[in-house]
Amino acid sequence: MSLDDHAEDLASDLGVDKEEVKEDLENLVSYSVPMDEAKQSLRRKYGDGSEGGGAAPSEADIADIETDDGNVTVTATVLTKGKRSIRYQGENNVIYEGRLADGTGVIDYTAWTDVDFEPGDTVTLGNAGVREWEGEPELNVGESTTVAHADEDLDVGYEVGGDADLIDVQVGDRGVNVAARVVEVETRTIDGRDGETEILSGVLGDETGRLPFTDWDPHPAIEEGAALRIENAYVREYRGVPSVNVSEFSRVDALARAVDVSAAAPRMDAGEAIRSGGVYDVAVVGNVIAVRDGSGLIQRCPECGRVIQKGQCRTHGDVDGEDDLRVKAIVDDGTGAVTAVLDEGLTEEVYGGDVDDAREQAREAMDQEVVADTIREKVVGREYRVRGHLSVDEYGANLDATEFERTDDDPADKATALIEEVGA
Ligand SMILES: [Zn+2]
Repeated sequence: MSLDDHAEDLASDLGVDKEEVKEDLENLVSYSVPMDEAKQSLRRKYGDGSEGGGAAPSEADIADIETDDGNVTVTATVLTKGKRSIRYQGENNVIYEGRLADGTGVIDYTAWTDVDFEPGDTVTLGNAGVREWEGEPELNVGESTTVAHADEDLDVGYEVGGDADLIDVQVGDRGVNVAARVVEVETRTIDGRDGETEILSGVLGDETGRLPFTDWDPHPAIEEGAALRIENAYVREYRGVPSVNVSEFSRVDALARAVDVSAAAPRMDAGEAIRSGGVYDVAVVGNVIAVRDGSGLIQRCPECGRVIQKGQCRTHGDVDGEDDLRVKAIVDDGTGAVTAVLDEGLTEEVYGGDVDDAREQAREAMDQEVVADTIREKVVGREYRVRGHLSVDEYGANLDATEFERTDDDPADKATALIEEVGA
């Protein structure tokens, strides 16, 4: 539903001029007030006596809620409840958010004030607003929403509480709890909304995988090697992968036990990894079907590091480019294709030489493309195991490689391996 449609609805409900309502609505929405809240506040402003706008919304199953539903009444079990602060109309506001489930499905919610429910409670939310977030419906628990505790628990088939293994953590999760080891951590100074502040950033690991994290309000317990339980974290996308965000409201405790961090990256099919929308540390095994343009000997802008063409940086214009080596190899495993991006070190290994060797080869051939051609001859048609950070965007899936190794793809060896596997 467009803002115009919302304005028209509201104007006809309230019997007032549409343009006037629309202007108010635009104003509120421009301050990031959710549409439902904005409409409620205009109902109050224009004196709609029937709070909530006429008939109470009907009871809905979560699976049936659609993004263009106005308000709904839902009976559901609270799975998670996270707390964090957001900047809203120039001020810091504390919000509560998490996930609800009934027998038909799950839905995320945001509450703009503290709400009288905790994970595990089964509640009926009366007159909850529905808004769209990244294409999915989400519930908005506002001033006009009623909360009634149900006597009976629902059979929801989802685990209550936000405990998650790192491999299962997804962008958009709130109220998440992880038990993990701090694999890497560094203190950074950022220019935050309240001036310069120190934050922590690094990598967490558990038995299932690794993820980057940021602690916006440094907790002393977060030290390299520490085994921790972190409660009430939220998950954002950072460079295409899920990142665990720890805030002033998160609880960080030392674990009495050690946490094993798997040395191996989780192996996934390319198709599965791409569908997941991004994985911080993943291994894919597939055949190199092509080496893309922009591989081999390349030049980067000394200012911004971006690859330049004919001495021209898109941002910095005419620059004196710096030579570098890179490979962008398309790796396909039959379920999908990713572009493995190899840095200078990994490129040196597959090329069998460094940037000086590449320059020399290019000079002799009077063509720098020969470096990419040499790499093509070595890798195309062969099977590789690529490990790294997978990010997915509208242009495709990039696997920023930390490892790029030939698998043992000698046909005879493969046959032997297969026989052993069958025999085992
Ligand atoms: Zn530049």
